[in-house]
Amino acid sequence: MIVIGGGIAGLALSLALLKDGRRVTLCEQASAFSPVGAGITLSPSACKALAWLGLEDGLARLAEPGSPPVLRDWSTGNAGTTMAAVKHLSDTRRISRADLHALLLDAAEKHLDFEVLTGSRLSGVEQSASGVSATMDDGREIAGSLLFGADGARSVVRDAVFGEAAPEFTGYVAWRFMLPADAATLLHMAGHGATITAGPDASLTCYTVGQGNLLNCVAITRSDEWAAEGWSERGDPAALDAIFATAHPDARALVAMAGDVGLYRWGLFDRPVVPRWHSGRVALLGDAAHPILPFLAFGAGLAIEDAVVLGRALSSFPTDEAFDRYEAARRPRAAMIHAASRKQAEAFAKAKSGDLPEKSPMLSPEIFGHDPVAVPL
Ligand SMILES: Cc1cc2nc3c(=O)[nH]c(=O)nc-3n(C[C@H](O)[C@H](O)[C@H](O)COP(=O)(O)OP(=O)(O)OC[C@H]3O[C@@H](n4cnc5c(N)ncnc54)[C@H](O)[C@@H]3O)c2cc1C
Repeated sequence: MIVIGGGIAGLALSLALLKDGRRVTLCEQASAFSPVGAGITLSPSACKALAWLGLEDGLARLAEPGSPPVLRDWSTGNAGTTMAAVKHLSDTRRISRADLHALLLDAAEKHLDFEVLTGSRLSGVEQSASGVSATMDDGREIAGSLLFGADGARSVVRDAVFGEAAPEFTGYVAWRFMLPADAATLLHMAGHGATITAGPDASLTCYTVGQGNLLNCVAITRSDEWAAEGWSERGDPAALDAIFATAHPDARALVAMAGDVGLYRWGLFDRPVVPRWHSGRVALLGDAAHPILPFLAFGAGLAIEDAVVLGRALSSFPTDEAFDRYEAARRPRAAMIHAASRKQAEAFAKAKSGDLPEKSPMLSPEIFGHDPVAVPL
C-alpha cells in the first residue's frame, strides 16, 4: 500500500496498516524528516488512538500530562475560572511535534514491511481495476493496491483524484516561537497546562514541551492578506511587539523575547471539509481532507483519529465497504470540528476578564470525549 506524505497523518496510518500485517511504502517529498519544532496539544481522543497504535509508553515518556489551561484577560492579565473547571481539558497532553513525529516513525520502522522513500514528491495518480500507480516528479512510478493521500492541506492526491479547489486564506496568521522553559515563570503558569491570553484581535498560547525544557508560544493575529509565496516565513519581531502593545505585561515580555529565538509566521488557510474522501483505490486523511484553524488545537488529533478509524475499517471489511464506513464515521466529526474551530476563534475574541463565553466549543465534552477506537463502524 502507498501512503503519500510523512507527516502525522501518514505515519499514524502507516502504523495502523503495519499493525494489521500490510506492506507499506511511504513517499515523502522532503529529502529528510525535520518537523518544525513547535508544540502540539493532543486531545484525549488522539491519546486513545495513539495508545491503540501501541504508543502509550512513548507518550508517557515524551508528553507532558495535561492540566487545565488558564485564560488570562488581554489587558489586566487576570486569570479566569471557566476553563480550570473543565475535566476534559485536563486529559489533554502536550508534546513537541518533533517528539511525536519521531515516536510514530520509530514505531513504524520496527516493521520489516515498512519502506520510506524520502525525496519523493508525488505529481500524479493513475488507477485501474488491478491497482494504483503513483508518479513522482522525477518520473519514478510506484505501484500498489491502494493509495492514501496524507499529503497535507495542499494535497496533490486530492487535486489529482477529486479535483477540489485549493484552501483559502482565513485572515489569521500564526506566529510561533520557542523559548527556554524558565520564561514560563513570567506567565505565572506553574501547575497549569497552558496559558492563553485572548483579546479581540490576537491571542497568545504558551505551554511547556520537550520534557519541560521549552516553552512553546503561538500567537494568532488578524491580517487582510497573506502575501508570502509559501505558507510560512520568518516573522518580524517588531511587528509582533506592536500587535501586543496593549496586552498585559507578562504577554508583552514574552513576545519581546521572540526576536532572540527563531520567530516564524504562518498564514492560516482552510477550506470546507471535502465532500468525498475516497474514490476507487484512493482515500484521503488528515489535513488533505480537512484543514482546520488551530483554535481548538485539533488538526493533528483529527488526523490521528482518521488513521485509526481507517485502519480499523480496512482490517474488518473489504476495501469498498471499508472506505464507505470510514468516510461515514469521520466526515461528520471533521465537519463538526472544522466549524467548532472557527467558532472558538470568535469565542477567544469575545472572552472577557479571562473567561470564555458559555457556549465556547472548548468547553464541550462532545468534541473531546470521542473514542476513535470504540466508535462503531
Ligand atoms: C499554528 C498551528 C498550531 C497547531 N497546533 C495544533 C495542536 O496543538 N494540536 C493539534 O492537534 N493540531 C495542531 N495544529 C494542526 C496540525 O499541525 C495539522 O493538522 C497536522 O500537522 C496535519 O497533519 P497531516 O499529516 O495531515 O499534514 P502535514 O503535517 O501537512 O503533513 C503532510 C506531509 O506530506 C508531505 N507532502 C506534501 N505534499 C507532498 C507530495 N506531493 N508528495 C509527497 N509528500 C508530500 C509534506 O512534506 C508533509 O510531510 C496546528 C496547526 C497550526 C498551523
